[in-house]
Amino acid sequence: MAKKFHTVIVGGGCLGIASALSIARKIKKNGGDPSSVCLVEKMVLGGGLTARHSGIVRVANADSDAAQLAKISSDMWLNIENIWDAELEADRHGAIWIAKKNENNGNTKWDLLEQQLKSSNIRFNSISYDKARDLLPGFINISQGETFYHEPDALQYDPAEVRRALYEAVRRSQITLEEKTEVLSFRRSSSGKLTEIVTSKNVLKCDHIINAAGAWSPAIFAKVGLSIPVSVEPVYVVNWLTSLAEKKVTMPIIADYVNRAYFRSWRDGEIHMHQPRKRAVQETSTAFAENPLAVLGADFINDPSNQAIGYSQNRVYEDIAKQRFGNIKQTIFSSGYRSFFDITPDLRFILGPDPKIPNLIHCLGSGQAFKYAPAFGEMMSEFVFEGGKLSDLGKNFSIDRFNSDFMENFWKRVSGAEYSLETEGASL
Ligand SMILES: Cc1cc2nc3c(=O)[nH]c(=O)nc-3n(C[C@H](O)[C@H](O)[C@H](O)COP(=O)(O)OP(=O)(O)OC[C@H]3O[C@@H](n4cnc5c(N)ncnc54)[C@H](O)[C@@H]3O)c2cc1C
Repeated sequence: MAKKFHTVIVGGGCLGIASALSIARKIKKNGGDPSSVCLVEKMVLGGGLTARHSGIVRVANADSDAAQLAKISSDMWLNIENIWDAELEADRHGAIWIAKKNENNGNTKWDLLEQQLKSSNIRFNSISYDKARDLLPGFINISQGETFYHEPDALQYDPAEVRRALYEAVRRSQITLEEKTEVLSFRRSSSGKLTEIVTSKNVLKCDHIINAAGAWSPAIFAKVGLSIPVSVEPVYVVNWLTSLAEKKVTMPIIADYVNRAYFRSWRDGEIHMHQPRKRAVQETSTAFAENPLAVLGADFINDPSNQAIGYSQNRVYEDIAKQRFGNIKQTIFSSGYRSFFDITPDLRFILGPDPKIPNLIHCLGSGQAFKYAPAFGEMMSEFVFEGGKLSDLGKNFSIDRFNSDFMENFWKRVSGAEYSLETEGASL
């Protein structure tokens, strides 16, 4: 007979785990059984995109809704031991943002961001060359032609430690964990609710479903007629080995917008780097259009045979790293991989109830979601139960916004309406 759960969470990445933990905690607080929350993961916990993040929690964000959520989440990370009942230590060396100076010796966008963030109590300040020199180890090259901003509260975690802590938290919470169990399809009641989940191992009945399957969501929920606009944008990561004599040097995260790369110190004497997500609407829409595998993209890139880094990509990263790091004369490749960011058409999250399926709630990232995990977990619990401040903020990210007008305009941006199939067809 099918097992009956209060809530089933599809996807055991950081967002699915955080959702399961928050909902189970709420159920327990109300005198219920935390094992009535079931977390279903087709691979192993944290084996999707969550196995690939850089462990960085930065709050400064040009999108003020996202910045507010990131601030709440960052404060929660510092108290994670109490929230998740799992030990996890943060490195607190802050972040330095670097850009080319404009004619006014600053950066127009970031000066504005500084003002905007001040009103949200987020520390992000323009600093002088001398101050930046003080905050950065001597082997990092900076120049007077660059401008610097300091985000002192940025945190860094060791992703391997995060994964251990997540497992520990799930074990202690008494959540029902179904690893290596793939959600295959759903059965709906006459009211339209998804009441049964057919997996590769069993059938699960439930009252609520959280979709935390990230880039896999479009394929899973297409089976119930939903179109979830998520695609994948490939990204490469390289870790360079440096001298262990420098191991004790602490280093802020470097958000290098001159070379378009993020750097952080990594494990034992490594410099970890990857390039940021593309942000222009044109590029985002192209990623959707050029990726005929959008639906299968996550599985495709996640396949072990597709994760290797090519020679030319390595050389590009080597050139960038050598420009910023004076101590890299000869590169020593330690490890690297290809992964992806999950992206939505407007690069904002998809959060909250689905307008078409009454008991389905979405919890999807958009590229940078690790840092939001504790806050999104609580938000999902609020959506399932009585609501609150986080679910109110989450309403700004409803999937409802991707209506047909939005999507039509989005597609027109791929290469301009004049090149669309529709126009070409009309000219035949
Ligand atoms: C190079 C890189 C660096 C990054 N650095 C940072 C960073 O420093 N800070 C930050 O905040 N973010 C960072 N990110 C982003 C972060 O990794 C992701 O936003 C986050 O891990 C997404 O988590 P998730 O739970 O939404 O998705 P995932 O971890 O992908 O979880 C989705 C899960 O669903 C499972 N699933 C799929 N299909 C099914 C099915 N049919 N049945 C059951 N389960 C299924 C998958 O196996 C997967 O485990 C980085 C990403 C990359 C690629």
